[in-house]
Amino acid sequence: MPFDQLGRELKDLRVSVTDRCNFRCSFCMPDGHEYEFFKREEILSFEEIARVVRIARTLGVKKVRLTGGEPLMRRHLENLVALISQEVEDTALTTNGFLLKDKVKDLALAGLKRVTVSLPSLRDQTLSELVGRNVKVSQILDGIYKSLELGLYVKVNVCVVKEINSDEILDFIDFFKPLGVEVRFIEFMDVGTLNGWSLDRVFSAKDIIKAISQKYRVIPLGKQKKGETAEGFVLEDGYRFGIIASITQPFCGECNRLRLTADGKLFTCLFAGEGYDLKKLLRGGAKDEEIREFIVSVWESRRDRYSEERLELLKKGEKPKKVEMFKLGG
Ligand code: SAM
Ligand code: SF4
Ligand code: SF4
Repeated sequence: MPFDQLGRELKDLRVSVTDRCNFRCSFCMPDGHEYEFFKREEILSFEEIARVVRIARTLGVKKVRLTGGEPLMRRHLENLVALISQEVEDTALTTNGFLLKDKVKDLALAGLKRVTVSLPSLRDQTLSELVGRNVKVSQILDGIYKSLELGLYVKVNVCVVKEINSDEILDFIDFFKPLGVEVRFIEFMDVGTLNGWSLDRVFSAKDIIKAISQKYRVIPLGKQKKGETAEGFVLEDGYRFGIIASITQPFCGECNRLRLTADGKLFTCLFAGEGYDLKKLLRGGAKDEEIREFIVSVWESRRDRYSEERLELLKKGEKPKKVEMFKLGG
């Protein structure tokens, strides 16, 4: 198993299957910009992705999460899920949920085990404003209900932006608690360069717990597994939720994720400026062993700990080059 320079083991592969999206979330891909998307021929085929997964599995990767852009915009994603599910036990999806209701049955039949739905508001108007198009909360909820009916493990991601949706923390708990769906609140991160991030727009983990504690006793559980991004919490009735506090409580020391972009680049950190070109090897006739060695060398030379260094960089006024979140997939 490869370990990086800081002793972190490679375990988790995130695959972005497209950089396109049907939303324009203000915290990720805000409206009003001219986005340059990958051309069709630049994007890895399902067979190429499945090959990378097969090789990554031999290096210890046990979990693959499909993301984007919006992964459900990639046609016949179920065919990719079927290929990947033959390689690893745990195939998961992160989606904005807009197309989920119609697509989740085929995905579940193909072997999808878990789905994380990003839903930043339970109010139609706030949701529409945040995601940059007219959307009804009920449409996303229908996808969640259908996923639950099909027996998938469902989580809900809420990126919290101060004074936009930060007053809805308790509403999320009260809504999803009876459904047994784990909500994960995410501190607004400074990914990319376009989302107008500043520290004073971050609603911190501490404030999130304070909001929930107005009504419930919150018991911290810590990290459920090594490498887990979310801190776990439980309420007295057994309901669990999570907080991903990458800004105020960085967790680089346990980061075990490798990211593959839709155009075939490997990124070892959400905040890396550049990726490593794997597609060149995939399309240049490289043997599996060469690809394996390339992945190992990328991982072993890794020393990223951006979230731990962020405050120092901010203090120095440094602005590192960063790739947009919709290219990397979270
Ligand atoms: N389109 C899919 C979705 O929205 O779930 C998958 C890709 S999206 C980039 C993955 C996750 O990143 C989502 O849960 C989204 O809320 C989160 N995200 C995007 N921008 C963020 C930011 N600036 N800070 C924190 N989380 C962010
Ligand atoms: Fe929103 Fe996800 Fe699309 Fe980003 S990729 S704009 S978070 S739906
Ligand atoms: Fe991992 Fe980079 Fe995030 Fe740190 S900042 S947890 S190294 S992705």
